[in-house]
Amino acid sequence: MRERWYCPDCGKENNSVVVRTYYTTDRGKETLVMCPWCGGDSMRKMVECPSCHEWMEPDDRLCRKCREHVEKSVKKFLRQFNEAELEYVDYLLDGVSVRDLL
Ligand SMILES: [Zn+2]
Ligand SMILES: [Zn+2]
Repeated sequence: MRERWYCPDCGKENNSVVVRTYYTTDRGKETLVMCPWCGGDSMRKMVECPSCHEWMEPDDRLCRKCREHVEKSVKKFLRQFNEAELEYVDYLLDGVSVRDLL
């Protein structure tokens, strides 16, 4: 998976970072990941959204734009059913209520 770094300090995205390795007396070897632009050390790793190839946080399954798109489409899709039909959909989903999504 493609990944890149984002610096919240200067707002720049980087393909590469400056990695400094140093030794401390109490904790031994430490690695510091730094921004090549401003030297900030709060770099965050970003990965590619598997759907639209935008950059997103590594913990997200889809980027915010794609998540909103899916949620909106699912809601629109579910609104075409009436209460009784939604109950049947829940039955098909083995007890998982789609109405939690509405
Ligand atoms: Zn920076
Ligand atoms: Zn996306």
